[in-house]
Amino acid sequence: MIRMSEVGKTYPGGVAALNAVSMHVDAGELVGIVGPSGSGKSTMLHLLGALDRPSTGTVSIDGHDVASLPDRALSALRARTIGFVFQQFHLAPGVSALDNVADGLLYTGVRRRERRRRAASTLQRVGLEHRAHHRPHQLSGGERQRVAIARAVVGDPAVLLADEPTGNLDSVASAGVLELLRSLHATGTTVVLITHDREIAGGLPRCLHMRDGRLAES
Ligand code: ADP
Repeated sequence: MIRMSEVGKTYPGGVAALNAVSMHVDAGELVGIVGPSGSGKSTMLHLLGALDRPSTGTVSIDGHDVASLPDRALSALRARTIGFVFQQFHLAPGVSALDNVADGLLYTGVRRRERRRRAASTLQRVGLEHRAHHRPHQLSGGERQRVAIARAVVGDPAVLLADEPTGNLDSVASAGVLELLRSLHATGTTVVLITHDREIAGGLPRCLHMRDGRLAES
């Protein structure tokens, strides 16, 4: 599904965030990326999600070499294939849960009524149909992250990339979000989860360990 070969990423200013990283994520996997702050996890996730291009080496997503795709084709690949979830939720304030989720389909050409219909069914999938008309400030942290996950998967992407999705949640809400990610994985979504929480990492089928921009698989 995703393959990195000898990938390096150097930011302007010369910071080498990734160094000769080779890895792959197969379709249907649930994989953790773990490591201390500054080890290159977010950089890796940006590259896995085609939000950025590598400085050296190759990244291929669903068989497409990211470096060889023009920007528009890359955006299209991202929109079709990948859902993103972040620690900070990034929901639109003042907008209902339903419309936040429906916005996950904004650039797909699906009409508004159909976007909202699919959003309602995705909210049901994450157990939040009773919160559809609440706005983000009326929801708990765990509920907000569920809405963000619903928005990420409403278009049925093959891959869900989650960057510290439980970083802002208490332990009960974290457990709920993890369970939701596991249930998405169980129904066929490939899930890549960044975390620095060892307990969460320990419960995953496979983890990639990052340190100083390099990878040690175990
Ligand atoms: P992590 O997610 O593990 O905390 P990051 O991938 O965010 O690690 O960062 C890896 C390294 O790259 C760090 O030294 C960080 O300061 C640097 N870095 C990250 N993003 C940028 C950027 N946009 N510009 C310059 N340096 C960056």
